[in-house]
Amino acid sequence: MTPATICSDDDAVRPTHVEVNLGLLAQNLAAIRCHVGSAQVMTILKANAYGHGLVPVAHHMVQCGADYLGIAFLEEGILLRREGITTPILVLGGIAGEQIPLFLKHDLTITAPSVEKLRLIDEAAAAMGVKARVHLKIDTGMERIGIHYYSADQLLEASLQCKHIEVEGIYSHFANADAAELSHTRLQLERFHDVLSFYEKRSLPVPLRHIANSAGLLQMTDSHLDLVRPGILLYGVYPSAECVRSIAVKPALTWKSRVAYFKVVQPGHPVSYGSTWQSVHPVRVVTIPVGYGDGYFRALSNKAQVSIRGQRYPVVGRVCMDALMVNLEQGTAYNGDEVTLLGGDITADAMANWAGTIPYEVLTNINTRVPRVYL
Ligand SMILES: *Cc1c(COP(=O)(O)O)cnc(C)c1O
Repeated sequence: MTPATICSDDDAVRPTHVEVNLGLLAQNLAAIRCHVGSAQVMTILKANAYGHGLVPVAHHMVQCGADYLGIAFLEEGILLRREGITTPILVLGGIAGEQIPLFLKHDLTITAPSVEKLRLIDEAAAAMGVKARVHLKIDTGMERIGIHYYSADQLLEASLQCKHIEVEGIYSHFANADAAELSHTRLQLERFHDVLSFYEKRSLPVPLRHIANSAGLLQMTDSHLDLVRPGILLYGVYPSAECVRSIAVKPALTWKSRVAYFKVVQPGHPVSYGSTWQSVHPVRVVTIPVGYGDGYFRALSNKAQVSIRGQRYPVVGRVCMDALMVNLEQGTAYNGDEVTLLGGDITADAMANWAGTIPYEVLTNINTRVPRVYL
């Protein structure tokens, strides 16, 4: 769970590492804040902060004035509390009944997606003599978790009866906010407003309302409401190619390695498992000590490019667990030369296209075997 955080003067530093530029994360957060005006910002830190390292990024976001932190699972929240983080934390994922006392013990805000779970939270809070902080979750068209918008009155009604619960927020999640065509997203927002009218009709104070992920906050200003929940945008990557880029952000993560081995490969001598690639003339090939065991997708075999000494070169043959090979043709590189796998003109979008996936998976797939270095 915790990423290995190493110092740059550690003798054991692996040539393969991820560099996270904390200054750029701060700039991205500032750009988002500027765009959303008075709305609060919940920085989304799930999946090891999209591969950037949960604990260091969380500390940094708190320093940069994040109003709220969002994570997927209880365990991530407990880790952040143990690290001394006191900023409010919302656990976006579902809850197992037996976990509720742990949420309360660690002062984590709970997502309540149904009347049944709400009652369990109320009972657990009563038993512990505390008040649970809860955000109600409304499903307006994602069919993941949350009470359906057309039955939501039951949940809101029930929440008024729970004496040991403070309903601090109410939220929903977009399914298609990253598309060019936004009619389903508009429909989801309308459904959410219909649910919220429950409070106005009864002249009750409205809890903190939120629905916008990165794509929502980029593409639909009227979705910002009281709080926005940027994930991928915070890390400087756009949710999709179609999504309007109304905020300028920069990627904060660079993935690097070094040339470990140099050789000349003769024609008729195929490279790597399965012998999927060979040259018709002698070529210079270098081996880089990074592979799918680090999260460099095997699907990148014979597809991806890397950058060495400012030149782009193709990955040839199958990506192995701990190594990959790069064809320099007649280019020059020496053992120890820096290799950029991701960063600069090799974007998460480009890597996602090569691997047949989305940039989210490119970032979250870089696993904890790869040390993170913070700049
Ligand atoms: C992951 C997630 C987000 C952030 O999504 P991005 O597309 O990365 O901005 C926001 N809200 C919820 C509920 C999420 O699960």
